Amino acid sequence: MSAICRRARVRVTGTVQGVGFRPYVYRLAGELSLGGFVLNDTHGVLIEVEGGATVIDRFLTRLPSEAPPLAVVEDMVFEDVSPNGEPDFAIRESVPGKMPDAPVAPDTATCPDCLVELFDPADRRFRYPFINCTNCGPRFTIIRGVPYDRPLTTMASFTMCAACRAEYEDPTDRRFHAQPNACPECGPSLSLLGGDGRPVGGDPLDAVAAALCAGAIVAVKGIGGYHLACRADDELAVAALRARKHREDKPFALMAPSLGAAESLVRLDALARELLRSPARPIVLAPRLPAAPVAGAVAPGAPEFGVMLPYSPLHHLLLADAGASLVMTSANLSDEPIAFRDEDALERLRGIADLFLVHDRPIHTRTDDSVMRTSPCPTVLRRSRGHVPAALALPRPGTPRPLLACGAELKNTFCLAKGERAWVSHHIGDLENYETLRSFSEGIDHFARLFAVAPEVVAHDLHPEYLSTKYALELEGVELVGVQHHHAHLAACLAEHGDPGPAIGAIFDGTGYGLDGTVWGGELLYGDVAAFRRVGALLPVPLPGGARAIKQPWRMACAWLVASGIEPPAAWHPIAQLARSGLASPLTTSMGRLFDAVAALIGIRAEVNYEGQAAIELEAACQSSERGSYPVEVAGDPLVIDPRETIRAVTADVAAGVSAGVIARRFHRTIARATVDACAGLAETHATELVVLSGGVFQNRLLLASVLDGLRPTGLRVLVPERLPMNDGAVSYGQAAVAAATLSAETR
Ligand code: ZN
Ligand code: ZN
Ligand code: FE
Repeated sequence: MSAICRRARVRVTGTVQGVGFRPYVYRLAGELSLGGFVLNDTHGVLIEVEGGATVIDRFLTRLPSEAPPLAVVEDMVFEDVSPNGEPDFAIRESVPGKMPDAPVAPDTATCPDCLVELFDPADRRFRYPFINCTNCGPRFTIIRGVPYDRPLTTMASFTMCAACRAEYEDPTDRRFHAQPNACPECGPSLSLLGGDGRPVGGDPLDAVAAALCAGAIVAVKGIGGYHLACRADDELAVAALRARKHREDKPFALMAPSLGAAESLVRLDALARELLRSPARPIVLAPRLPAAPVAGAVAPGAPEFGVMLPYSPLHHLLLADAGASLVMTSANLSDEPIAFRDEDALERLRGIADLFLVHDRPIHTRTDDSVMRTSPCPTVLRRSRGHVPAALALPRPGTPRPLLACGAELKNTFCLAKGERAWVSHHIGDLENYETLRSFSEGIDHFARLFAVAPEVVAHDLHPEYLSTKYALELEGVELVGVQHHHAHLAACLAEHGDPGPAIGAIFDGTGYGLDGTVWGGELLYGDVAAFRRVGALLPVPLPGGARAIKQPWRMACAWLVASGIEPPAAWHPIAQLARSGLASPLTTSMGRLFDAVAALIGIRAEVNYEGQAAIELEAACQSSERGSYPVEVAGDPLVIDPRETIRAVTADVAAGVSAGVIARRFHRTIARATVDACAGLAETHATELVVLSGGVFQNRLLLASVLDGLRPTGLRVLVPERLPMNDGAVSYGQAAVAAATLSAETR
């Protein structure tokens, strides 16, 4: 025993409940022979440890650094209190409170320990599809309320058997207080239904493996919703899935049985491998390998596949039994949100799925798979399962009042915030139908309860027709803050990096409501989280027929030809007329639409059947060896990126029979150079060395890589969204950051 006895009180905040933190503290204290206690309370975990002074130091050093895998220690503060001679260490009962703000953990992939048990014939959970422990398993998707305790999860109707209960109550057990703990005796079970919804006899997994091999399409109930699965190499099955889902070209995600199998599908770098195996288990987009054993209909025209590894025990069993990579696509009809309620799935997927592999553990919150990419830099395309509801920080001093930010329209998320923390929701989807709107409003209520946020301030987009804006405007007794769409993109990026700015923001996307009521989307902003000025933009052109021009890139091709003084082909004359008249043709500076126009001009795609398709195919078409580019004018104050010369040159190249791949590559180089010149020039004018690149257009890897390369020699610092998407999935967080900064400035 060391000479000096000391007692420390430690307060740990962050994601520290329901993640095995107390047993971890118990073991650590036991190892160091310290007395004291640990308990959960409404703020997180409270610890008191007593023992030799140097041992206490060691405890305090090791406590955050060796925390269990799912724990996120946001803060740890400690103070010395007087020793009371407590010799043993105990886990004490939780203190019930009324203001819970201890975060709920995200859903987490099956851990290595559980996997060993899953495939161990001697284990009592051998091949049990719902095996989990404190280090893994469902969390966010099964939680109905807080505190995180079994009665407030969708496991409430299952009563633990004696063996499970013993694990649950044993502080030294890996399943101590694992709320979804279960076994074949007492937990959820699988069942198999036919396409007509009637039960099918026999072992469900055996039957599904056989059916998949025979070319069936199977609806599989997963963690956050249903997937539709079929063999990835089965041309007929994949084509049937496409036809039945009414999904023409949008790529399907794949689930590979192992990392090795994934490497036979796509080219992976070290980070991509790490992401695939990470506890969040996202879909990773990576360049497809030409020899990949995958049906052509999986991702027509797309240069990448989205690949993931099994993340639930059911997936592990399914993939092991099937012995092949599967298509695993969200179970829905085009444009509808992913199905997650059993009756609803059976109803909506009738005629699509031949079999339904279901179980009796309800999903409380629908949560799609997250999507990430590692090249040219790590980006998130969809932040959802495995990441939500982890908190993000707001820039200091945070928000003086609790707030809600309603997000945009497409790829909607919402965000709740109080103090310095923001909770960005799972991917809600395109707010264009009743089902999605219901997810949105129910999701807001759910988050408000989970994180005890009663919004007094509500931030929203300026677009009056967005359902998210309408939702905000209908709320009573709250203060409203309207946030310009591209400012929200800029603010989101600055805020996630904790950078105060100001910066030059090149914010390129499809559509966002501008301060002047026109459709913005190729914006050069100067500003910080609190305020901005529009210091430049793409040359405005008409959007002939409004929203129809988004589905029909040839309309934009027509508009750009007219703007560039070129006579469009005869078949396009009515639309050229429309563009010239300005009727039903709002002006737009959209960069996304310029990419669409060029894709149509060079014959790559005249009409799209999913968002971004024309630009994706234009990027895919690029001939990488091509080094040329086109003229483009970047001049004026405010700065105008004027690509009319570019359009004329593209048209001349098309007439001269230059290949689409060469033109596409020259066009990318041209826009990249214009962007670099614009950013560098504006940074100098406004005396800043910081540039932000964001907006959905930068999901184009070639464009992003070229702009990053071009900016490198300028010495400017460049920020790109990393933890949130470049697309509109980040708008809610950006709105929250802007509103927080506005409110803080008012109260100062
Ligand atoms: Zn586990
Ligand atoms: Zn049991
Ligand atoms: Fe946007």
